Amino acid sequence: MRAARFEGAGRITPRTADPPRAAPGEVLLRVMACALCGSDLRPLRQGWPVTPGHEILGRVAQPGHAWDGRRALVYIPVFCGHCPECVAGHTQLCRNATDLMGWQRDGGYAEAVSVPEQCLLPVPDDIPDTLAPLLLDTIGTAAHGVRLAHRVVRGGDALVLGAGPIGLGAILVLRGMGFSRVSVVEPGAYRADFAASLGAQRLTMEEAATQRFDLVIEASGKDAARQLGLESVAPMGAMVQLGEADAWTVNENKAIRRKDFFLIRSFYFPIGEHDANIALLRGARDDYARLVDATADLDGLEALFGAFARGERLKPLFIP
Ligand SMILES: [Zn+2]
Ligand SMILES: [Zn+2]
Repeated sequence: MRAARFEGAGRITPRTADPPRAAPGEVLLRVMACALCGSDLRPLRQGWPVTPGHEILGRVAQPGHAWDGRRALVYIPVFCGHCPECVAGHTQLCRNATDLMGWQRDGGYAEAVSVPEQCLLPVPDDIPDTLAPLLLDTIGTAAHGVRLAHRVVRGGDALVLGAGPIGLGAILVLRGMGFSRVSVVEPGAYRADFAASLGAQRLTMEEAATQRFDLVIEASGKDAARQLGLESVAPMGAMVQLGEADAWTVNENKAIRRKDFFLIRSFYFPIGEHDANIALLRGARDDYARLVDATADLDGLEALFGAFARGERLKPLFIP
């Protein structure tokens, strides 16, 4: 089979490999689509020892297995199912999960991948192939962050910092969860225009700095955005830190110090939220469909990543 090798410095080369052999407790999945993710840009820059790709839809090809022939999404953390976090339903926090699909073991930029069977997520028949991968990071990650914040902030003005896939997902999720007034800060014209088309009000960083927001979703991973979020979250409001970066640099100042507020970090989503995420997708299916604005096969993947990294694509798909 063919798979992508991330060489570093933005280079992706196709390679030929033996098809993966499913270990006990695993199934072979023929990849149907794998969505590009901003977090893939680090493997793209650095090079990566395994095949990246972690927003995977495929069809199980494991004769005799209960899932054989069925479409499935792949849950990223290879969770154990019996540690205290798993038992409590927080499968994304499994204390025994050392491997993430597409990070420490081969992922979805390939024709096939071996998947631990506990990581298979069902896909209802009414969800098309091109939309199903959005149920993972775009909806799953954004919705879990908003659900955590919803425990302390039930409504009001929301601000989304960064309109990449997670930020755009957050705008749609916020709408779906009753936050009717959503603003967005996004420097890239294409993404900002798209966010506005979803009903978000565009603000510059300077404009946002003069306002106060009950809920801030930080989805850029940039220090300047984190600083803005911490300063502009309203008293008793919440900031959800979804964007990822290697390290934070924040200047603690009076605007941050003299305020009660909730700072929330969330990682991915509990596997039990999958059904609720499907309901969110069904509730705004046409808008989610507009996010998927390009596709490429293995030979076009490097160029597609280039356009994605420049902010010229929203949520493109690799289709082998
Ligand atoms: Zn991702
Ligand atoms: Zn566990």
